[in-house]
Amino acid sequence: MPATDHDGARGAAFFDLDGTLVPFNSGMRFARYEHRNKRIGNLSLAQSAVWMLLYHLSLVDMTRAFGRAVAYYRGVAEADLDARTRTWFEQEIVEHLLPGARTAIAEHRAAGRPLVLLSSTSSYLARAAQDSWGFDDWLANRFPTDDNGRLTGDFARPLCYGPGKVELARRWAADHGVDLARSWFYSDSFSDVPMLAAVGHPVVVLPDPRLRRHAKKVGWPIARWS
Ligand SMILES: [Mg+2]
Repeated sequence: MPATDHDGARGAAFFDLDGTLVPFNSGMRFARYEHRNKRIGNLSLAQSAVWMLLYHLSLVDMTRAFGRAVAYYRGVAEADLDARTRTWFEQEIVEHLLPGARTAIAEHRAAGRPLVLLSSTSSYLARAAQDSWGFDDWLANRFPTDDNGRLTGDFARPLCYGPGKVELARRWAADHGVDLARSWFYSDSFSDVPMLAAVGHPVVVLPDPRLRRHAKKVGWPIARWS
């Protein structure tokens, strides 16, 4: 790439959320919360558990799994889902930010780098996390609504997952004068290898076994944030 492309471009710090900023998968917790509050039934909870397991093993076709989960919310008022996601986040998630994550966030902030959540979670969770943890922006999955503000049961493409994360991050970087080659990305998951490979400073956090093996092979640093 010509040097002029990088003149003045700064680095950003991108962070995965599930298993990276917090030591668990928030999707499963949200499914249990919805189940406790009688918004989803036993079958959906069981399906969520199976998907989460497959997701964890990177064995699931995420676009298909995501499509089925989102279709369940067709007709739900976005404002309601947004409000209850925020309540749930404040009750069950916010306090679990890992100490090492807090330190990394503070260091990047002190260095003047933009802090960006890059997560396959919902836009609702991403916004709540941005507000509580002091991120500058977020990239996550968005759900279109109809004229009455109700979810259509679909999701925006590309899915913010795997190679889709790279596509969304590249777009964001271009819009914000950021160079991915000068940027950081922190993740726990093998599914994030494309984005880890796209930045100049990949950092693997609490990695799953496949990612740990890959990180050792290619020489990516492995951080312990617990
Ligand atoms: Mg993760």
